[in-house]
Amino acid sequence: MSEKILVTRATMPPMEEYFDEIKTIWDNHWMTNMGEKHALFQEELKEFLGVRDVELMVNGHMALEMAIQAFNLKGEVITSPFTFASTTHAIVRNGLTPVFCDIKEDDYTIDPAKIEELITENTCAIVPIHVYGNICDIESIESIAKKHNLVVIYDAAHTFGETYKGVGVGNFGDASIFSFHATKVFNSIEGGCVCFDDEKLGNDLYNLKNFGIRDPECVEAVGANAKMNEFQAAMGLCNLRHLKQNIEKRKEIVNKYQKLLGDIKGIRCWHEQNDVMHNYAYFPILIDRDIYGKTRDELFDILEKNNIGARKYFYPITNSFDAYKGRYNVEDTPIAYKTSLEVMTLPLYPELTDEQVENICSVIHDASYEKV
Ligand SMILES: *Cc1c(COP(=O)(O)O)cnc(C)c1O
Repeated sequence: MSEKILVTRATMPPMEEYFDEIKTIWDNHWMTNMGEKHALFQEELKEFLGVRDVELMVNGHMALEMAIQAFNLKGEVITSPFTFASTTHAIVRNGLTPVFCDIKEDDYTIDPAKIEELITENTCAIVPIHVYGNICDIESIESIAKKHNLVVIYDAAHTFGETYKGVGVGNFGDASIFSFHATKVFNSIEGGCVCFDDEKLGNDLYNLKNFGIRDPECVEAVGANAKMNEFQAAMGLCNLRHLKQNIEKRKEIVNKYQKLLGDIKGIRCWHEQNDVMHNYAYFPILIDRDIYGKTRDELFDILEKNNIGARKYFYPITNSFDAYKGRYNVEDTPIAYKTSLEVMTLPLYPELTDEQVENICSVIHDASYEKV
């Protein structure tokens, strides 16, 4: 049997290119603590993302946790449960209470029409997620936040390199975070950053990631350690050079999926948003059991049997996690809940061949109602 097709495959530069990049680390023995790779990567990211400022972090989760912490918030934070564990955990680990808002049916991002009814005198912030590279309704969220004086921190982990109306997605809200995890569109092995436009916030983020140490004799804040090391930054520098080309390849694969799956009744494919330059990070499909004839879980198992690794992403939703047992109710976010039972993401990475995509699509086609 042929090798299993995994849902993703970490992007790596040619080995020689990485070796070349890390050579200087052997010259100066500077492996971490904001060395020259760190400085270079930070500058290149600012330029690439078109943002005012960037603070690099050891991973995307710490970027989010520290971004939230830097605003010194208290009380309730409105967010949505259709996301990776990190978003909700980052809120809770900051001593804040997540209040779950439902998502929009068409793009899975937070539904701004349902935010205001959740606002109380204790609400301090909104943490929306740009799910699967779909960008939130930025204008509506901004106007609600202004009206109620709320901080907005975007979990932009899925949207590295995207633009909305020509503006880099890292520019929205009071801060946005990206993840450079190996499984993401762009990686620095592990890594992440916070994007912002406020010098004081930059200072606080630096303190949080570096024990509050400003110089050897001045420790001005109670910080932790979330520094990105030189090997991570070097991987980021290399991968950044290949990103555009990789996104092009992803786009071709997505177009092929859309073409081959578009006619299968009961399968709803991810589609592009208006005004957005996408990064084609994920290819989610929704399975309507009544029309397609099989449930998401049944199709998932059929794909597994055919050596195809899909992913039930996002399932379970965060307000149904065992960790939060008894505290939230999935019925409060019915669209997020229903979506989590019907969705799966299909394999997507630049090296996926036409033949593999055709194979995946024919398995999905053959499992449908019409064929039975
Ligand atoms: C990956 C991810 C994170 C966390 O990033 P890490 O770099 O893995 O720590 C946060 N939020 C979302 C939505 C993610 O997909």
